[in-house]
Amino acid sequence: MWYHFFVMRILTRDIGGHVGEEITLMGSVDVRRDHGKLIFIDFRDWTGLAQVVFLPNNKELHEKASQIRSEWVIELKGSIQKRPEGLVNKNMASGEYEIVATGFEILSEAKTPPFDVHESGLDIGEETRMKYRYVDLRRSRMQKNLRNRFKVFQTVRNFLSENDFVEVETPVLSKSTPEGARDYLVPSRTQEGKFYALPQSPQQYKQLLMVSGIDRYFQIARCYRDEDTRGDRQPEFTQLDLEMSFVNRDDVMAVNEELLIKIVKELYPEKKIQEIPFPRITYKDAIEKYGNDRPDMRTDKDDPNLLAFCWVIDFPFFEKTDNGGWTFTHNPFSAPKPEFMSDLLEKKNIGEIITTQYDIALNGWEIGGGSIRNHRSEALRAVFNVMGFDDERIDKNFGHMLEAFDFGAPPHGGIAWGMDRLMMILEGEANIREVIAFPKTGDGRDFMMDAPSDVSEEQLKELHIKIVKTNK
Ligand code: ASP
Repeated sequence: MWYHFFVMRILTRDIGGHVGEEITLMGSVDVRRDHGKLIFIDFRDWTGLAQVVFLPNNKELHEKASQIRSEWVIELKGSIQKRPEGLVNKNMASGEYEIVATGFEILSEAKTPPFDVHESGLDIGEETRMKYRYVDLRRSRMQKNLRNRFKVFQTVRNFLSENDFVEVETPVLSKSTPEGARDYLVPSRTQEGKFYALPQSPQQYKQLLMVSGIDRYFQIARCYRDEDTRGDRQPEFTQLDLEMSFVNRDDVMAVNEELLIKIVKELYPEKKIQEIPFPRITYKDAIEKYGNDRPDMRTDKDDPNLLAFCWVIDFPFFEKTDNGGWTFTHNPFSAPKPEFMSDLLEKKNIGEIITTQYDIALNGWEIGGGSIRNHRSEALRAVFNVMGFDDERIDKNFGHMLEAFDFGAPPHGGIAWGMDRLMMILEGEANIREVIAFPKTGDGRDFMMDAPSDVSEEQLKELHIKIVKTNK
């Protein structure tokens, strides 16, 4: 049966190649318009719209057509005709043609949708949009965002594979990585009282893959950070994560710059990159000139097609904590710039040490960041010592990394891009939720699935967990 469907089905984008033929379309009723004797429907499939007309001479079919409603799913039969010159609809890709209906079958009726899918949806409540996300995604804007997101991912995958990168999956049930955010924890059933942490990024795994000799790794990785959600943050988000062996800072920056330029040129040709090669600015200059470390360098902020990428480099490695100690500014696994290595090992001039960290900013958003790593265990240990960790704590938390580096680790470095933010900017959206299929709301809830939700006593018991309610 399915085979039959696939063979017979014509997509609206292809109808121009079937003029005069009787064909079958499968999709939805976008709108129905009754013009006295003629009934029109805009028929929608994933490739676009086509106009269908029901003529009054076939009384039975005409009568049946007067009952169909928007969003009903139908299998439609009709013959394709070229429209006379004056009746061409320039707003529809298939506007030169019209389908004269000869029959249809209702595959699924639909309730009145909770909102109009022809509008942008930007002015209706988030709760309703999220609760009926599967309807919300029917909007042409949301369809475009999801399909373009896929195209960007394909371009990334193709480019990296052509450049000898290997895509490797790393665990989601893992151990906490210190990346500055709160972890999502998963209780263990078999190891009473113990927890996995969902990864804030695959940082440690990708470095361990360098120790394994993978040499060039990438992954389109889901990352989890229990932070307060806002326009450019979600509890779970997607990174393009990559790591390379035997490279310096410029090598990593060059590969990433080439890939970003390729994405824009191939998939967003209407957009203009302000400056190539991407300008570089030090952290110090960025703060002085722009007041932040993700400068918006656009010379014309009214131009939605202008993309001003820039690299921010030379960040301080450490910053003071509230209680007078030190913590890392970006990534504890980073190496200092070579001229600061002796200071790190001797733990002196801490505030002056500059890291190899490089961030990439686009139009005022940070869209990625990475660094060259410490591949020697003594340097990594020194970072944690500076942060006030004693050797016992370091061994407990990072013993596996230190030990791995003692088995022969190539110098390595990498980067991760925030794919949701990049897509948000490329698609001209104001919020990353517009480029994610099933995002969480501002307070981290999924109204469609109703998550997070209560679980049964039995489940809690198995996990050795007791809920203690606080009176808020
Ligand atoms: N793991 C880092 C992050 O998530 C990126 C990197 O340094 O590669 O920010």
